[in-house]
Amino acid sequence: MPEEIPSLPASFFEQLRGRGLIEIADRVLAPYLDDLESHERRALIEDALDFEIPLIELGDGTYVLELFHGPTLAFKDVGARFMARLVARSIRERPRALTVLVATSGDTGSAVAQAFFGLDGIRVAILYPEGKVSRIQEQQFTTLGGNVRALAVQGDFDDCQGLVKEALVEPELRAELGLTSANSINVARLLPQMVYYFYAMAQLPTGGPSPVFSTPSGNFGNLTAGLMARAMGLGCSGFVAATNANDSVPRYLESGRFEPRPARATISSAMDVGDPSNFQRILELFGGDAERLRAVVSGSRHSDEETRGAIREVYKKHGYVLDPHTAVGYLGLRRWSQGRQGRRRLEPLGEEVPGVVLATAHPAKFREEIEATLGIAIEIPERLARCLELPGKSIPIRPCLEDLEAALRA
Ligand SMILES: *Cc1c(COP(=O)(O)O)cnc(C)c1O
Repeated sequence: MPEEIPSLPASFFEQLRGRGLIEIADRVLAPYLDDLESHERRALIEDALDFEIPLIELGDGTYVLELFHGPTLAFKDVGARFMARLVARSIRERPRALTVLVATSGDTGSAVAQAFFGLDGIRVAILYPEGKVSRIQEQQFTTLGGNVRALAVQGDFDDCQGLVKEALVEPELRAELGLTSANSINVARLLPQMVYYFYAMAQLPTGGPSPVFSTPSGNFGNLTAGLMARAMGLGCSGFVAATNANDSVPRYLESGRFEPRPARATISSAMDVGDPSNFQRILELFGGDAERLRAVVSGSRHSDEETRGAIREVYKKHGYVLDPHTAVGYLGLRRWSQGRQGRRRLEPLGEEVPGVVLATAHPAKFREEIEATLGIAIEIPERLARCLELPGKSIPIRPCLEDLEAALRA
């Protein structure tokens, strides 16, 4: 966690509507980057956030915030590009070889690999659950080569994440290989994610009440960033923690007990996380008080069948194609609007409260699923098509530190 989360001044919010992404990012991130000169900070932000984040209106007060226009077509580019540039800057000042460990359920791997690819003095090891990521995702991080190494772990995402944590707390290994993490354990990934919550606000029509944000969640970095933005003063009518069958957080919100379970495979596979590591940060933001958390965050869990239904419904109604993750967010918003859970804050959405669904991936990343669900052909963007042609390379390992060490030393 940042030592302190400062509030932004009222003047920032008064002048928010219509402001540009870079300007907002510069204001929001400045307090966390106080060891950078302002021109250096601005250049880093411009370089990291060099793509659009448009807010698309579907109708009925429902908006989609498209976070997937970066190089790997998923929202993780936002955090990964920012973090990579900070890390590159820090080793420029203190030269020493660095190995970045990344556990991925699919999209983090490609975003982080892309972000660090070709940077001097940095090696990247991507740990992914063998056979549990889509072919497109696997191609995106196994075809880069160079300073990027892909490790196919015989296990699930939680095994990969567990292995990274295990390696990071081994002082000798950590020092010898200069290990660092690039998962949302690393706060440098969370910070820039706050920015787009403010930017969504800047793109909404003026005058209405504050929106509700529905965040399709797996490891809960994205939602944590939204809650940190709220702590900085972002006005909102609430957040929806929307999940697939991996519902540890929605269950916590119901029962007040956090009981992680092994991950289950779903069609929104980048959210197949049984033990989300950012949950502790969320609790911290609310002083560990479930009641205070419930007043702001509603949980919503959705099956694969519901998810496919939402993809069909939105396509039919609005001609807009949701990817399976964003579809879970859409369902979460709809349930919030209907107030199904019978909670205090779940007043009907009506026309007043705008609903913003965070769109976390381009539908082409999950083309097979979308084509089967909608019966239409999904065009693959050029940058994705290119890496599908290349031969991929990965090293198979068991989920144990011994194998990880061997693969890192090889
Ligand atoms: C990683 C990912 C998520 C989940 O985000 P968290 O910050 O881990 O909750 C959702 N959708 C897609 C497409 C992702 O890649």
